[in-house]
Amino acid sequence: MTLADFQLVRPASLPEALAARRAYPGARLLAGGTDLVPNLRHGIGEAAVLIDLTAVPRLRELTVEPSALHIGAAVTLDRLATDPMIAQHAPALAEAARQIAGATHRTVATIGGNLCLDTRCLYYNQSAWWRQSNGFCLKYRGERCHVAPEGNRCRAAYSGDAAPLLLTLGATVELADGTGTAWVDLESIFRDDGAAHLRLGEDQILLAVRVPIRSGLVAGYEKARLRDAMDFPLAGVAVALRRENDRLAELRIAVTGTSSRPVLLTDCEALLGRSLDAELLRQIDKLVQRQVKPMRTTLIPAHSRRRMAAALAVRLVRRLWSC
Ligand SMILES: Cc1cc2nc3c(=O)[nH]c(=O)nc-3n(C[C@H](O)[C@H](O)[C@H](O)COP(=O)(O)OP(=O)(O)OC[C@H]3O[C@@H](n4cnc5c(N)ncnc54)[C@H](O)[C@@H]3O)c2cc1C
Ligand code: SF4
Repeated sequence: MTLADFQLVRPASLPEALAARRAYPGARLLAGGTDLVPNLRHGIGEAAVLIDLTAVPRLRELTVEPSALHIGAAVTLDRLATDPMIAQHAPALAEAARQIAGATHRTVATIGGNLCLDTRCLYYNQSAWWRQSNGFCLKYRGERCHVAPEGNRCRAAYSGDAAPLLLTLGATVELADGTGTAWVDLESIFRDDGAAHLRLGEDQILLAVRVPIRSGLVAGYEKARLRDAMDFPLAGVAVALRRENDRLAELRIAVTGTSSRPVLLTDCEALLGRSLDAELLRQIDKLVQRQVKPMRTTLIPAHSRRRMAAALAVRLVRRLWSC
């Protein structure tokens, strides 16, 4: 479909961006546009004004602090995939970035846009005429959810690849609005509602991500997808772990593509102190399958995606154990 006309505002500083936020209620923030623009083209959402954040210098900073990486929201995925600073201090983030979209997308797609990308569903990421022929759906312009017709909320899946990895690394994000800026846990910006999965207010902007640098902690990210060349995750899993000699001293697992928010698993502590054996891997498989509950939002059945998530977690733990 042709993109409807819109006004583009391109602030050159954070105060200008915040002022634009206030001046144009209902405007959409634009970064690389690789999620937002195709959606607008499909008639998903409307935007008379787009506020392009990529000319705000503060959002493009990538620096290393004594104990953390500071990544501006408009830093591109290509930069994350190739920058030596990321390779040295958070190689798993480069690994995750390399698995997002295609190489050309990554030259403009940003980490902020990736964290804030819309949720996805088989009945939603379609052309307008396709959706109209289906009576649209609860998430946008319709009255019924085709995935869970008896339910009253959207189950579209959050499918960003960077969020689970950043959750396992204990990342925080900086938010700004007219009253100032604040750092919050990354987990706190998400909620389990496919139609409103971000807790960001109308006037808020995600400014940066801070990733703690921790020696001894190793991490990785793997995803299952239909097309290996380029595709959203049917299930994507991040694991961060630390060993003390032969024992598991720390374990964090997060999953994407299966719920309306990225899921940081609970109860991993129960597995600490164990060494790597078949029983530990069986417990990890069980833990994932208990907490990950995909819905029928892709062509691949939900139960297969749950099992994929468990299998990826087990594979990652095996791989990271010998790092
Ligand atoms: C063919 C194709 C394949 C793809 N495959 C994948 C994939 O495998 N994995 C994956 O994760 N993604 C994938 N994507 C989606 C997209 O390319 C990435 O998620 C990308 O990182 C989005 O970043 P962006 O800068 O382009 O975001 P944009 O499209 O500019 O924005 C996305 C959303 O974030 C909001 N936003 C952007 N920046 C900010 C900010 N600083 N503060 C608050 N809100 C903000 C926007 O308003 C918008 O709602 C794919 C896209 C395409 C077209
Ligand atoms: S989960 Fe239901 S309401 Fe949400 S996008 Fe899919 S069909 Fe629409």
